[in-house]
Amino acid sequence: MSAPDALVIGAGPAGAGAAIGLARAGAKTLLLERSRETGDALCGGFLSWRSLARLEALGIDAQALGGQTVRRVRLFAGTRSSETMLPEAAMGVSRWRLDSALQAAAVRAGAGLERGVHATGLDDGTVQTRDGAKLNAPSIFLAAGKHGFRGFAREPAAWQRDDPVMGLRLRLPPGASLDRLVGDAVELHLFDRGYAGLVRQEDGSTNLCLAVHKSRLDAVGGAPEALLRRLGEQNARLGERLIFADWSAAIDAIGHVPYGWRSGVTTPGLFRLGDQAGVIPSLAGEGMGIALASADAAVAAWRHGGANAAPEYQARLAARMTRPFALANLIWRIGESRRSAAPMVAIAGLAPPLVRWMSRTTRLPGD
Ligand SMILES: Cc1cc2nc3c(=O)[nH]c(=O)nc-3n(C[C@H](O)[C@H](O)[C@H](O)COP(=O)(O)OP(=O)(O)OC[C@H]3O[C@@H](n4cnc5c(N)ncnc54)[C@H](O)[C@@H]3O)c2cc1C
Repeated sequence: MSAPDALVIGAGPAGAGAAIGLARAGAKTLLLERSRETGDALCGGFLSWRSLARLEALGIDAQALGGQTVRRVRLFAGTRSSETMLPEAAMGVSRWRLDSALQAAAVRAGAGLERGVHATGLDDGTVQTRDGAKLNAPSIFLAAGKHGFRGFAREPAAWQRDDPVMGLRLRLPPGASLDRLVGDAVELHLFDRGYAGLVRQEDGSTNLCLAVHKSRLDAVGGAPEALLRRLGEQNARLGERLIFADWSAAIDAIGHVPYGWRSGVTTPGLFRLGDQAGVIPSLAGEGMGIALASADAAVAAWRHGGANAAPEYQARLAARMTRPFALANLIWRIGESRRSAAPMVAIAGLAPPLVRWMSRTTRLPGD
């Protein structure tokens, strides 16, 4: 490929989504991904009806993803539980399946995809890579995910600094008993300093994904399996599901998730997308939805104003994030507190419209 018009760093939902839009708009686009093969990123795997519509607009047949239909949200805290129908059908799907479909669509649209390219720095239209190469383009789309990128440090919110949040994930094997328990729900089990989400995925397995403060892991000696077993003992309904765990399977972990961080600042030529623009707490927010929406907004801005449109795009995106982030932060704080989680679940059970309002208000406005 001759010199690209746009370089996209990271082929997750934000980067692959942007590459599709850019290539469709006629830009010579090169998508750089550090992994040699598409992995199964640690994620809850819940896609709302809005994200499904966005995927369709990107040329991805959501039904062909083969995910499990999700119609309700079930909340648990202590002995309390509640269940609410979602406004529309959603989906549980693995990140391997979703990212593979998005990357294939980007290539079909005409973008180049180079794997095994680890960007290590960015400087005025130049991307440096780990193997020493320098790549130039007038517009760079930074979509490298939730962790900091050199020169783009991020501070987590004050309440996380002393006790950072980490993510854990275990896939529970397919089985009729677990299917009956979880069914067509996304389940959120709230506990002291964290939550566990469960949703069934395309291969019949159930994705169990936790966001939990590190102090909980430290309290059991640092072993994720010990923490899951402890949580199962302390939270009966979660314990009923963990009976089906295969404890020989890997438990994935990521550290320091900077929930609540967002930035509206950038320089001309640099569009920051997805988790590189803001990391919404996943208990109530939908990071993949924001990733796809940011890609869409960045491409629209680029089409309109080229590389110079980046600062205005970034400021507008940050403004759109204000209300969803404020609400998602609040729900996360309430949900992870021993005192307030059970009352929240009780109120949710009494007021389904409130749950539906929250599920709408934690999405980007105009989405
Ligand atoms: C515990 C937990 C549960 C979650 N559950 C959900 C959920 O159910 N639904 C939902 O919508 N969201 C959920 N999220 C949030 C969601 O996972 C993220 O918001 C989403 O993945 C962001 O997409 P992205 O494309 O910005 O980044 P990512 O998905 O992280 O993709 C970044 C890509 O960039 C690549 N990359 C990284 N660094 C470099 C580099 N230096 N050079 C080249 N390539 C690089 C990576 O390999 C990756 O492919 C959850 C998050 C957590 C922590």
